[in-house]
Amino acid sequence: MSVSSVAVIGAGAAGLVAAAFAASSGAKTILIERTRDGGRKILISGGGRCNVLPSVLAPERFVTDSPPHLLRGMLRAWPLHEQRAFFENDLKIPLALEEESGKLFPRSNKSKDVRDALVDYARSKGAEIRFDTTVTDLTVGHPPSGGLFTLETSKGELTCDRVILATGGLSVPATGSDGTGLNIAGRFGHRMIDTYPALTPLVDKDESHASLSGVSLDARLRAKSGSKITETFGGFLFTHRGYSGPSVLDISHLTARGDAPTIRATWSVRTPAEWTKDFEARSASVLTILSRYIPARLAEHLMIEIGIPADRRTSSFKRSERLALIDALTGYPLPWSGNEGYKKAEVTGGGVALDQVDPKTLESKRVAGLYLCGEMLDAFGPIGGHNFSWAWATGRAAGLAAGLSSVALAKEERA
Ligand SMILES: Cc1cc2nc3c(=O)[nH]c(=O)nc-3n(C[C@H](O)[C@H](O)[C@H](O)COP(=O)(O)OP(=O)(O)OC[C@H]3O[C@@H](n4cnc5c(N)ncnc54)[C@H](O)[C@@H]3O)c2cc1C
Repeated sequence: MSVSSVAVIGAGAAGLVAAAFAASSGAKTILIERTRDGGRKILISGGGRCNVLPSVLAPERFVTDSPPHLLRGMLRAWPLHEQRAFFENDLKIPLALEEESGKLFPRSNKSKDVRDALVDYARSKGAEIRFDTTVTDLTVGHPPSGGLFTLETSKGELTCDRVILATGGLSVPATGSDGTGLNIAGRFGHRMIDTYPALTPLVDKDESHASLSGVSLDARLRAKSGSKITETFGGFLFTHRGYSGPSVLDISHLTARGDAPTIRATWSVRTPAEWTKDFEARSASVLTILSRYIPARLAEHLMIEIGIPADRRTSSFKRSERLALIDALTGYPLPWSGNEGYKKAEVTGGGVALDQVDPKTLESKRVAGLYLCGEMLDAFGPIGGHNFSWAWATGRAAGLAAGLSSVALAKEERA
């Protein structure tokens, strides 16, 4: 049995930062991680490039069932420019802006650099990291060996005064997250919001667009369920099984929550009036006009669906054809039957309700000395670095608060 002051469970994005800040405040800190090297989601993030942060934070685009002001407060507790300075100055990971997406990536374009720098930084601040160790249970009490909490792990018991739960959600289980932390939090009586996969590709069981697989473009999507309307804009990718890309991922959680929204796509930024003007050209190929603004394969597909011959020219364009084509271009009903679920979800929606923790310290309101951070809390943001920003901000707040409180406790005990 070993004793520590702060035990952080989970060396993902939030846990690595939490451990570094807990150790920086002078607390004896142990970070326990089930995989052999930690930060597995960081490694696969951003297609292996790691979109560390957005260049502009959009708190209003985050999704939560908890009071949104709590989410905004937690995010802003570590302002974006300070997060960026942390990576560039403390971790020595210079970031570069990808102009078209507004995303910040490490200049090296290697996610491993980010993960390794976080591990090294936590160690340099004094945190001890135990890889290949799974926490199987957590109990509160005063064991004879001291400490407030007992952690059961695959490698024996450990006691400590403060625990930070940073075990992530349920998405991409191969990266180490299996919901243990969520179960522990639920067992301690925290109000939980049912979890759901988010930022996950959509599936169309009829594979009605499989022939377009690989075609990508910018699209505007409008999901409507009842009176609720959600709009997204950005990259759209046809896949063999359905659709992906930022505009799809950002809307996908709606399909996972039983709302069954209707989704309509606008295949370019052109308005119906602009298309009408184009089609008034005296004698031009309709397909050529379309192909100026959308991929030719999509243009052909839409014309076939509507029943417009591929060689149709504007001079013989029937009014009914023109109207149907403009409808398809600006309000195309996207058939979908489901989503790829947690297997491919970039994040998990739902989790521990935000009003269950102190908004500044992230200490549980149910269990004194227990802190929660990262994806296990009921919040996620859009594609673009927002989810790491959430993990860094909440990880730092929990780490600082747990560390300082543990140091204060040790002083009290000595006095
Ligand atoms: C494919 C993919 C790409 C992504 N790309 C981006 C991106 O570019 N930008 C962005 O902002 N976000 C991205 N995300 C989202 C981002 O990775 C997550 O929001 C973030 O990693 C959440 O951090 P976390 O620390 O809360 O959880 P995680 O990163 O999931 O970390 C949890 C850690 O806890 C460990 N653990 C779990 N249970 C136990 C246990 N019982 N005992 C010990 N250890 C345990 C796990 O092994 C894991 O290391 C991506 C996600 C995926 C899946």
